[in-house]
Amino acid sequence: MTVTNTFEPGLRTKPEVVHAEMNAIAFAAKHGVATDQCIMITTHSPCFECAKLIVQSGIKAVYYEQAYRLTDGVQFLKECHVVVRVIDVGEEEVRETKAP
Ligand SMILES: [Zn+2]
Repeated sequence: MTVTNTFEPGLRTKPEVVHAEMNAIAFAAKHGVATDQCIMITTHSPCFECAKLIVQSGIKAVYYEQAYRLTDGVQFLKECHVVVRVIDVGEEEVRETKAP
């Protein structure tokens, strides 16, 4: 079975699609990778449902490049003392993260 994240204009996710944040946390759980005190880097700010899971999984910071159409997820993260930052995920920065 193939699961594809497809977005309609305005970033409205189809109900059957798992958001990238939830998918990443589920992947970590499935493969025994601890998420406590990790930093999550995403293209868009998390929605409220993803934000709840991020808090409960112990992720300490979320960095994203673009704002999602709803901001309640970011507000919730801040209320729960998760660090939230907007970053530029350009080619140059990606190369920097791979450097030793
Ligand atoms: Zn979400």
